[in-house]
Amino acid sequence: MKAITVEPMKASSARLEDVPEPDPRLGSILVEAVAVGVCGTDVEIVEGSYGWAPSDKERLVLGHESLGRVIDPGSAAGFKKGDLVVGIVRRPDPVPCPNCAVGEWDMCRNGQYTERGIKAIDGYMSERWRIEPEYAMKMDPSLGIFGVLLEPTTVVAKAWEVALAVGGRSFWEPQNVLVTGAGPIGLLAAGIGVQRGMEVHVLDRVTAGPKVDLVEMVGATYHSTTVSDLDFEPDMIMECTGVGQVIVESLQKLASGGVICLTGIGHGGSLSGLAPADIAAAAVLKNNIIVGSVNANKRHWYKASQDLARANPDVLKGLITRREEPQNFQHALQRQPDDIKVVVQFSDI
Ligand SMILES: [Zn+2]
Repeated sequence: MKAITVEPMKASSARLEDVPEPDPRLGSILVEAVAVGVCGTDVEIVEGSYGWAPSDKERLVLGHESLGRVIDPGSAAGFKKGDLVVGIVRRPDPVPCPNCAVGEWDMCRNGQYTERGIKAIDGYMSERWRIEPEYAMKMDPSLGIFGVLLEPTTVVAKAWEVALAVGGRSFWEPQNVLVTGAGPIGLLAAGIGVQRGMEVHVLDRVTAGPKVDLVEMVGATYHSTTVSDLDFEPDMIMECTGVGQVIVESLQKLASGGVICLTGIGHGGSLSGLAPADIAAAAVLKNNIIVGSVNANKRHWYKASQDLARANPDVLKGLITRREEPQNFQHALQRQPDDIKVVVQFSDI
């Protein structure tokens, strides 16, 4: 079968190639790939700056934002041929650490977890893949291709849960939320905020185009200013850019008692005229919470599947801006100005 593989930590090593059928040890359910979403992590892996091959191989099958159709459910109860499924990404570490031991592998403390398509287990960018029943999420058939958005939605579902949980350390009724960055994570975060009845604002750099239209379609307000120039103080900020200047301005803009949840992963950059101690002092004097959130456990996968089923289908349709065939995977990995979510499509749906 065909698969998109890469030699991790080696730039320009990605290729579409013939590989053996999926290893039965990866799960009793055999799945035909429908589509796999592409994100910044995939780009990093293909650029040679991230990723680990399985311990007995040199190459890793890429892809962690899956959607597939069951070919053979094996002995798994609750699954049948034709079901649409999405594969969970992370597996607990083998030690296990206390968090993995209680099923919170998203909070793994020793870093020895593994991840499909990222860390030591083959991913989902192959014509067929296998999955363990306990790591397969059955999707509502009416979602169709939008099921490929489940994995990014899990990241958002966890971030929301985390922000609300830490905010609950005192009496706190957040009225408005600022989402920085109108990429897939930001737009999905905005959608969940609106679903929860909050006043949602989304900030990005573009002044027109699909991101702006989607923010309006979600029911949020779009801003193309800087965070500093906003004329309100957000009770909660979902930071989805990873850009230093945006983060610092967000910390300064956050309302008293507010929570900022960091989900973006950036690198480097410099700040103009702001000392860490001054930023920290503002956080102290305003009782702010700064919390990071990554990955998701099965509870968040379940919540995300509910959030996705409730989402406006026109918004979900707008999020998937490009579908590429497997042989054009290199195009899928090259960002275009109007891209939001690009998927590699393996079969029709
Ligand atoms: Zn662990």
